[in-house]
Amino acid sequence: MHHPSVAAILATASPLSSRLPLMLLAGAVLLAVIAIATRRWWQAWLEAQRPPLEPPRSESLRSRDERLKLALWASGEQFWDYDLVQRKLHRMRADENAVQSADITVLTRHGEVPAIHEEDLPLVMERLRLHLQGKAPLFMSEHRMDVQGNGTWVWVRARGRVVERDDDGRPVRIAGTARDITVSRNAEHEHRIAGEVMRSMNEAVAVLDWAHQFVTINPAFTRITGYAEEEIIGQPMTMLDSDQHEEAFFERMNRELRLTGRWSGEIWKVRKDGEEILCRIETNVVPDASGERPLYVQVLTDITEQKRAEQELRYLANYDTLTSLPNRSLLSERLSRAIVRARREHGHVAVLFIDLDRFKDINDSLGHATGDRILRAAAARVQQTVGTEHTVARLSGDEFTVVLEDIDGMRDAEGIAQRIIQAFRTPLNFGERLELAVSPSIGISLYPEHAQVPTELLKHADTAMYQAKAMGRHTYQVYSESMDEKNRHRAILASALRRAIDRNELSLVFQPRLSISRQRVTGAEALLRWDSKEFGMVSPAQFIPLAEESGMILELGAWALREACLTLREWHEAGLEELCMAVNVSATQLQRGDLQTVVARTLEETGIPAHRLELELTESVIMANPEQNADTLRACRRLGISLAIDDFGTGYSSLAYLKRLPLTTLKIDREFISDLTHDTDDEAITSTIITMGQSLALKVVAEGVETYDQYEFLRNHGCDEVQGHWVSQALTADQCLRFIREYYPGSGIRAAS
Ligand code: C2E
Ligand code: CA
Ligand code: CA
Repeated sequence: MHHPSVAAILATASPLSSRLPLMLLAGAVLLAVIAIATRRWWQAWLEAQRPPLEPPRSESLRSRDERLKLALWASGEQFWDYDLVQRKLHRMRADENAVQSADITVLTRHGEVPAIHEEDLPLVMERLRLHLQGKAPLFMSEHRMDVQGNGTWVWVRARGRVVERDDDGRPVRIAGTARDITVSRNAEHEHRIAGEVMRSMNEAVAVLDWAHQFVTINPAFTRITGYAEEEIIGQPMTMLDSDQHEEAFFERMNRELRLTGRWSGEIWKVRKDGEEILCRIETNVVPDASGERPLYVQVLTDITEQKRAEQELRYLANYDTLTSLPNRSLLSERLSRAIVRARREHGHVAVLFIDLDRFKDINDSLGHATGDRILRAAAARVQQTVGTEHTVARLSGDEFTVVLEDIDGMRDAEGIAQRIIQAFRTPLNFGERLELAVSPSIGISLYPEHAQVPTELLKHADTAMYQAKAMGRHTYQVYSESMDEKNRHRAILASALRRAIDRNELSLVFQPRLSISRQRVTGAEALLRWDSKEFGMVSPAQFIPLAEESGMILELGAWALREACLTLREWHEAGLEELCMAVNVSATQLQRGDLQTVVARTLEETGIPAHRLELELTESVIMANPEQNADTLRACRRLGISLAIDDFGTGYSSLAYLKRLPLTTLKIDREFISDLTHDTDDEAITSTIITMGQSLALKVVAEGVETYDQYEFLRNHGCDEVQGHWVSQALTADQCLRFIREYYPGSGIRAAS
């Protein structure tokens, strides 16, 4: 028992005692100087009188000496003794290396007083002065000294008292004990700092005991949770728990704490006012000596706002603010994940690319606010139709994309595309009493059949969507490699077309138009031909759309108009002055709004009488932007030219609306004509169009007339003119002139060629 406890004392004492040398009395020197400076005589006398400090060597003293040794060794104190006159310090301490009392040796040292830290010196001096003047029974001081004389400051607690006075009662000797208190001073200091830090921390700090009850909290904790110190100390930690977390969550947390001594994570807490806050928590276990009753130190940060802002940001980065649908970036993320899953499960993913037909026109004519409402309504319609298990995203403008997961293949994808088209047959509701029918064109691509990566799948669905538009809109198309082939071909063709005018590859052909009542050719329609060096004869049905897309149509159209007028002038000059010329005009030419200027200039330059020129426009061209186009058309009419509506019956314009346009001629689409005498519907439609057209005082022309039967039907129903292979194919200018001359008026039969 005895031995271990001594060892224990040594173990803890030795770091102290190594630094622990002597005490000081330092100030004494200065004090003495100050106090006694005027009395040198007295000093001299003292010197003479000073008794030696050697310890007495008698037997009786020996045992006392032993006891002192033991006391010094066991207490860790040092003994000091200061000669105020000689200013010499005697220090004495037990050797800390001793293991048991028998080994103790006492180390002594004579010399100067070690330096005192300048910050502590005034206080030491004051304490000493009070004691020497008899105003304090003891000299007591805690101060820093350079005990070893090597520049290391050691905290020392010194006590002492005057032990000897001269005959006049003046102190000449002072003695006492001292000890190194550096370690406890530092610990206390750190403790104070720690407390201060905890108080001023922005993060809430709570210390919990082994039973998870609050021991200490800081002001920030009160600020964040609303609980004051007195309300929470001694309470269980669970009083702040939110039921947002399952029991398993807390079990995981406790297990981690036990195993690793720390836990950090996000956790919902309930404030005193009942509001839930999201906290980031860091818990550290502070073990106690026994290891059984640890403390838990928790640092909490309220991240509710931060999280909200993060979510907001995430929303903005991933969702389209207009429709609240995922945007392009979230779409590609979802598509990538869908593909990864489909690859693993050998499944399919379909991408549907949806574009609303003629949305740009709607947007331009009804305004952007309405356009936005239509887009929102369309978004909702698509999402409702495909269901929430599939992703619907808005990429830009009026383009929507659907990612279909867990489908069996192309048949499923086509089924959903059909459902979407069907769903859009019901007009969209966008606000009070506002309805509008828009139709979608849909392109479909499929993983893994068409592509393996998201970008390719999207591109292919886009290609297929364009194909659906080319097929006449309001339909869907499944991607095929030939579509890419077509696109490539189109690109090459477009660049060739750019050079066509300069290379003289373009020409016009003319198709005669026959008046039924007058039995004579009244004129011809000019049709463009492109004889490409690289591609041979290219159909206008192919290159006109290309020219429209690239804007080349403006140049092409102006060229065709001028060429047609020049040909007509030749015919007039050849004596056929009553002949008229019909020229086709495309959407782009009309939408530019300066068609009247181009026409007026051409008439002037070619010298053609305005009433011998007719422009042909299709329904869809005019309806794309009815208001503005009507203005342009009226301006053209004022020049004196005729205006025909081409391909009539294929679009959706009503005759009532046509009434408001300054038209002169109506051309029934050849689709109706080709089935005349076979299809009673087409017969009914054709005869109705003729009647209504004439009631509007329009000249009615039937195109694509290929047989005598068709001609006869039209004649019986009062149609004004016919055009088609039955009369003549399109001919070169010279051929056409010859044809017109050779035509036998009155026979109703074309001349044998
Ligand atoms: P479109 O204006 O409807 O022209 C009539 C088309 O029907 C011409 O085709 C013509 O050759 C063809 N056709 C004439 N009679 C018959 C017939 O009895 N049966 C059949 N099956 N077809 C007949 P084409 O020349 O291939 O022109 C196609 C389209 O290209 C034209 O349709 C027109 O929209 C456009 N186009 C032609 N030239 C021009 C032009 O100079 N400018 C513009 N903007 N478009 C043009
Ligand atoms: Ca035409
Ligand atoms: Ca036509």
